Amino acid sequence: MADATLGNILETLYLFLGFLEHHLGICSPSLLNLLKAEEYIQFISFSVAKGRTIGSLTNIISHTKKALTWLSNSSPQLATRIRALNFWLDTVRKQMVQAIPKKKRDVGQMEAAGKWEDASKLVVLVDKFVRDVTAWIGGVGGGELAHALARTLHNAALASCMFSHLPPVRLVCWRTLQIPGSGGCSKRDCSKPACNGNKLYYRGEALHLLLSHYKVDEK
Ligand SMILES: [Zn+2]
Repeated sequence: MADATLGNILETLYLFLGFLEHHLGICSPSLLNLLKAEEYIQFISFSVAKGRTIGSLTNIISHTKKALTWLSNSSPQLATRIRALNFWLDTVRKQMVQAIPKKKRDVGQMEAAGKWEDASKLVVLVDKFVRDVTAWIGGVGGGELAHALARTLHNAALASCMFSHLPPVRLVCWRTLQIPGSGGCSKRDCSKPACNGNKLYYRGEALHLLLSHYKVDEK
């Protein structure tokens, strides 16, 4: 299991335990409280009331099911009860998906808040960064402007990675990118034997990104 997935499951469990202690007044709650449907459904109601999106709510159910699987493997005597709970959780998830509408994103509002940029504007921006840095490399450079120019190079490199020649990918894909030709994998929780990690390479004139860990392995 990836570190990020494990982190998300733990976060859900901490939220659940915190809810039991602070809102239901239960002293020293534990994972065994997941077996009490009446407590769990109050946690879900609380999460709905907090305005969580349907995506976030279904993630909570999915994390709970993973924790229950762990509990069932650790305590086989609970397996029958947990199987019934899993069935009930599937029903809860289906009911939530039917009852809670997906939030529609308002592109205008997102643009105003700086959270959205039209793809055509992004391409213009990336082209500008690349032109600026190309002009710098071809020009004088250095001297008093070194810091500003370094920032331009930084902007051009980041913009090209994130928005230019390749479709957008998760930041972790860039953080774990390997030097071409190097072996091994820099992903901390990699469990694949002989994994070559994430790499950029050219096939003909097209730049490819080889991802060793994700649902779509090549972009
Ligand atoms: Zn790997």
